[in-house]
Amino acid sequence: MISKKMVGLVQNSSVIRAMFEEGKKLAAIYGAENVYDFSLGNPSAKPPQEIKEAILDIINTEDTNLVHGYMNNSGYEDVRDGIAKSINRKFATSFHAENILMTVGAAGGLNVILKTLLNPGDQVITFAPFFGEYRNYVDNFNGELVVVPPNTINFQPNLREFENKINETTKAVIINTPNNPTGVVYSEETIVELAAIMSRKEKELGTSIYLIADEPYRELAYDGIQVPYLTKYYKNTIVGYSFSKSLSLPGERIGYLVIPSEVDDFAEVSGGANVANRILGYVNAPSLMQRVVAKCLDAEIDINAYNRNRELLYHSLIEYGYTCVKPQGAFYLFVKALEDDDKAFANAAKKHNILIVPGSSFGCPGYCRIAYCVDYSTIERSLPGFKKLAEEYKK
Ligand code: PLP
Repeated sequence: MISKKMVGLVQNSSVIRAMFEEGKKLAAIYGAENVYDFSLGNPSAKPPQEIKEAILDIINTEDTNLVHGYMNNSGYEDVRDGIAKSINRKFATSFHAENILMTVGAAGGLNVILKTLLNPGDQVITFAPFFGEYRNYVDNFNGELVVVPPNTINFQPNLREFENKINETTKAVIINTPNNPTGVVYSEETIVELAAIMSRKEKELGTSIYLIADEPYRELAYDGIQVPYLTKYYKNTIVGYSFSKSLSLPGERIGYLVIPSEVDDFAEVSGGANVANRILGYVNAPSLMQRVVAKCLDAEIDINAYNRNRELLYHSLIEYGYTCVKPQGAFYLFVKALEDDDKAFANAAKKHNILIVPGSSFGCPGYCRIAYCVDYSTIERSLPGFKKLAEEYKK
């Protein structure tokens, strides 16, 4: 018999994954080209050519014991050094290898830092809509996820509500920008205000409140919009980065945490994170991939393809009468459902072979997420279905 806790978790298991399975079933019935699966954030852009070249080069030229062996639980020193220098070049920061901890993707990084920071019952605050896995990650360490309700006008965080929720048990705040599921980039003005609130509360309560910046979509930002680098705005910031989307490598499970030397109790936090990486069973991030990404820090995927998808989808939906905020980053669009019940709306879309995820999975009922990391032609072929769906609701 599995644990009671797991029974509950299995029952509530990801709606997104369930949709993905549903998509496969529909494809078997109607043919893959007639099913428009917008459920999963699986990158459609090809990994850059540099990745393949780096893998071959490393395998052919580097010492195999080094490439495949154990290492410091935080990762290879030279890889961490290269990443620190690359961040410094891009954001005028001053990190060193000791500030970087290689992780098993952003998911691994979040679990490592939450294990390091949380006592049972500690609060972690996040802003709706949010990546639903945060609930599980915080629960893994018996923390309590506190959700600030959404600001559906522009999906920037609701800072007044946020301030009211901070108390002496608040240990961390997770923010994700560019955001999954809205595609919104939090403005510099928002970040400055958020940082001011957190600093003020830290002083008032005499505690440390860590800001965890979950940044798998940092490189996916359109129209030249700047995504503020958060360590520059708030001292106790820890960044979780991932190459899953920026280099289209989600199955390879590679990312890193940035733990700046300025954070409160730096030695304990970075030492704790090193041990957490080991005892959570990751031991270290995948060794070959560490060496690969270190050689590809300036490589890029073709984000123009996502941008074309964004433009076509956004303008078409607006033309058909849908309401949504134009995404500025990531590869998601968060559309207002045409009825109050987002699950019923997603089911109505399914009748047109369109698979989208109800906003309730992201703490924001009444909306649905469309992951447009698909071929352009999939979007083109799905549009008549979106149009008919809107017309059904007008009747
Ligand atoms: N955080 C957010 C907001 C995400 O959307 C995802 C994946 O979709 C993750 C974290 C996990 O990313 P990774 O594949 O790097 O573990």
